[in-house]
Amino acid sequence: MNPSLPSPRPVPDAEHFARLLERLRHALSAEQVLQSVAEREVYAWDNTGSRFPPWAVVLAESSADVQETLRLCHEAQVAVIPRGAGTGNVGGALAVQGGIVLSLQRMNRIVEVSREDRLAVVEPGVVHGQLQAQLKNEGLFWPPDPSSSRSCSLGGNLAMCAAGANAVRYGVTRDWVLGLQAVLMDGSLLTTGGRTTKGVVGYDLTGLLIGSEGTLAVVTQATLKLAPLPESRRLLRVLFASVEEATQAVCLLMAEGEAPTAIEFLDASALDLLRRSGAVLLPEQGKALLLIELSGSAAGMESQVAAVLARLQRLSCLELLQAGPEEASTIWAARYALSPTLKKLAPKRINEDVVVPVSRLPELLAGVEELSKEYAIPIVNFGHAGNGNIHVNLLVDPAHAEQMAVVEPLLARLFRLVLSLQGSLSGEHGVGMQKKPYVAWELDPLSLRIQQQLKALFDPLGLLNPGKIFPDSVPQ
Ligand SMILES: Cc1cc2nc3c(=O)[nH]c(=O)nc-3n(C[C@H](O)[C@H](O)[C@H](O)COP(=O)(O)OP(=O)(O)OC[C@H]3O[C@@H](n4cnc5c(N)ncnc54)[C@H](O)[C@@H]3O)c2cc1C
Repeated sequence: MNPSLPSPRPVPDAEHFARLLERLRHALSAEQVLQSVAEREVYAWDNTGSRFPPWAVVLAESSADVQETLRLCHEAQVAVIPRGAGTGNVGGALAVQGGIVLSLQRMNRIVEVSREDRLAVVEPGVVHGQLQAQLKNEGLFWPPDPSSSRSCSLGGNLAMCAAGANAVRYGVTRDWVLGLQAVLMDGSLLTTGGRTTKGVVGYDLTGLLIGSEGTLAVVTQATLKLAPLPESRRLLRVLFASVEEATQAVCLLMAEGEAPTAIEFLDASALDLLRRSGAVLLPEQGKALLLIELSGSAAGMESQVAAVLARLQRLSCLELLQAGPEEASTIWAARYALSPTLKKLAPKRINEDVVVPVSRLPELLAGVEELSKEYAIPIVNFGHAGNGNIHVNLLVDPAHAEQMAVVEPLLARLFRLVLSLQGSLSGEHGVGMQKKPYVAWELDPLSLRIQQQLKALFDPLGLLNPGKIFPDSVPQ
């Protein structure tokens, strides 16, 4: 989707800006402040493919660096955009109205892992997968599992409330954070939460900052709640003749008994991609697939599998495979390769991540199919069906004017459909600059006003990550 174009912030006069950079170099070090065209270009992009070069880049190495940067930019009234690894899907880390990008990537220490307290204290620049690798040695893990694990940062996960396939059982980032240290735009240091798994004194500011997309404060340290690594895993691959049968199975699995760890859905077009990749052999008559992952103690695994199979027996499926460990990793790899493969299939892929209550999945997928036919735009659907969270991928060609002209109307119809099913416009990716025109469709006016007031309380001058989340105008 095209971003609603932000009204650009006035560029400060050259002398004023040069003075700010000089003060930043003095407060941090010259090497931590980048200004060349080539260096700024590196921080101009994220996974949206949009390009917004910042005016300068600061590489923070400590919480004190973040405080000094924000304090000096606040005084100079220059916007700051926090940035992790730049894998975001909605332009959240882009300087859409100009300003200085504040990179947290050098703050990448795992400060502490406590087994007794089942927690880890981390800096925001730690890469998600690196934390998991270290925790594995301790028999622990941090449950949020975005599929960008190998590259995204924990700071980005916190800011976007990231989640992945295992959210059916474990929930999202917000469920796995005990406390935060964060810097407000004026440079003051805020501490929220703590090291305990219970604590009910005052409002939940930790929960508020998580998912705030870098618009309220810059996270400089987080205390994460950990879980024991499950002893055993099992993957069931279940093929259906239709999307309706697959979504009925999802409803049945969620309606009774213990929820699986993950329930992933793939539609017929996604299955064709799997077949073409050669990694997975699937009968041609299969039109929808579920990947059902179970995890837990080794002793309890067979009874978990038996309980799921008993439920599935009430429905008709074309094929049910219990994958061995090697086969399971091949299947998961093929599933995670879908997103990059789609990018190669069409000149442009528009990836929406809408979410509906599980019981409304059949209506969502039927509605998407109708939209695809009506607007003649190929759409590939897959995603985290156990949470009702589907990646709706439109494949388009920017050179095809007629096709591009219907993209916005199609998306508007999709969002209206999702909201009519009591869903939400985004289950994972957030709002950023991409979805902000539609936020007022989902949030009622009072909720939107309170959120804008909170933003003004944290950042009265609107200097922290401007041009994100809140709509400039509302499409009809
Ligand atoms: C291949 C691929 C797969 C993906 N799969 C998933 C998935 O399964 N689930 C999912 O949820 N997302 C997924 N994403 C999206 C993305 O990886 C996540 O949103 C991730 O959490 C972003 O982390 P990042 O470090 O790249 O953040 P960035 O893109 O750098 O920034 C994202 C936002 O966080 C803010 N931010 C970053 N650091 C801080 C900080 N320290 N303090 C305050 N604000 C900060 C930025 O201002 C920005 O608004 C995927 C992306 C890709 C490319």
